[in-house]
Amino acid sequence: MSQEIMDIKKLEDTIKKYLNKKEQELVLKAYQEANQWHKGEKRQSGESYITHPIYVAYYLAQEQLDAPTVAAALLHDVVENTPQTKEDVEKKFGKEVATLVDGVTKLNKIKIKQTWQFPSFINKITGVEYRLFEQHVDNLRKMLLAMTKDVRVILIKLADRLHNMQTLKYMPPSRQQEIAQETLEIYAPIAYRLGMGELKGTLEDLAFPYIHPKEYKKIKEVSSKLYPKKENYIEKFKKILNKLLKTNEIENFEIHGRKKHLYSLWLKMQRYGNDISKIYDLVAIRVIVPDIESCYKVLGIIHKNYRPLIGRIKDYIAVAKPNGYRSLHTTVFGPEGEIIEVQIRTWDMHKQAELGVAAHWQYSSQKRLSKDYKKLHVPSQQIDWLEELAKWHEKITDPKEWEKGLMMDFFKKQIFVFTPRGDIINLPANSTPIDFAYSIHSEVGKTCIGAKVNGIIEKLSTSLNNGDIVEIITDKKQVPKKDWLNIVKSNKAKTQIKIFFNKK
Ligand code: MN
Repeated sequence: MSQEIMDIKKLEDTIKKYLNKKEQELVLKAYQEANQWHKGEKRQSGESYITHPIYVAYYLAQEQLDAPTVAAALLHDVVENTPQTKEDVEKKFGKEVATLVDGVTKLNKIKIKQTWQFPSFINKITGVEYRLFEQHVDNLRKMLLAMTKDVRVILIKLADRLHNMQTLKYMPPSRQQEIAQETLEIYAPIAYRLGMGELKGTLEDLAFPYIHPKEYKKIKEVSSKLYPKKENYIEKFKKILNKLLKTNEIENFEIHGRKKHLYSLWLKMQRYGNDISKIYDLVAIRVIVPDIESCYKVLGIIHKNYRPLIGRIKDYIAVAKPNGYRSLHTTVFGPEGEIIEVQIRTWDMHKQAELGVAAHWQYSSQKRLSKDYKKLHVPSQQIDWLEELAKWHEKITDPKEWEKGLMMDFFKKQIFVFTPRGDIINLPANSTPIDFAYSIHSEVGKTCIGAKVNGIIEKLSTSLNNGDIVEIITDKKQVPKKDWLNIVKSNKAKTQIKIFFNKK
């Protein structure tokens, strides 16, 4: 059997599980047309081109996305690679599918060209090197805007990128570099921001060997020595935990082991003096339970039996991460005193963590989901982010400013700090109390004279850390100082301070 017949069979079997007859027909018709239109075209690997759109559609069908998304995935390269136009697609498949295909076609124009010069700079704090995308900015903007209109376009694009990364070895070396770089700096962060943690990790690990080959090799070596031992331990702990939870009347739970992705391990090791023994979540235990109550019960049972490490209990259920991630995390001295991380979540949270916003476009046979994300129960922080991006785009017209802002606030390390009321505030790494004050309100920023960090008075120039509780002291007579511009890290604070001085 040829590859494409095998693949289409897999796709067919998958959609049969969740789409109705009419919807299955739409998908199969999309396959037939795409197959016809791509006839004779080959992938770099030498395979028929159609194997690629089938893979993309198959990936999305496994996530049980709706029929128009799967159909558009099959047709996603038709407008770019064949003489067919958006109108041809619309005539055969209707406006919804055509608009999705058109969205992906536009995104496909975003490519890093080798002739473009990327100036680079080193982040003095992390030592990490960043390359700037001078020419890329305008396209990036379009892409991000397209994303805010219909997230399904970006889901197709991410699946497309995943397959292209899996088949990257067939590309010429110069293209490999460009595609891997783009994946690392644009697509993986987007997957993360959309709450698709698993996909983000996979994309990064696929790009890693192309971008940092030596480091990749080293990390792989170091970690592969440790994994077998760790995995044995996880198996042992799983058995003990299984009994423990059963005797404590926890029902319908599942325990998995999860390996840390290599790229994120590499980043983390840089922060821990390259000492892998200090990384406690190299392998972690994941407990999945039916409801939130059981999450806390399980946490209690674990802490009663195994002493937790101070400062490592994280309740992302009460306070979700800004990308919508929810789970309880704790690190304990497990059996034999070995330090191990345990993550506890419900099935819903698990699905959310794997799928992110995609979870909300999943097909439901009882009730068709609305396409408008505003009407859906997407975690509000994810939506805030999308809307913030769109607003930002309108405001910033200078590509240089946009680029800097993009790098600073969205695609670099962020910290999460708290107001005294427990509201979570998301700031760029190394932000100061002034950034915090401006993110509360520009009036608070303008009039801040001091700050308490975790109850202790600190300078306004102090760098904040993850989890800090920050209280701002204001004085109506205070006005912004010019040198604040050298201290603040967030775009909002910078813009507001500049506005203040421009007015003067
Ligand atoms: Mn493609």
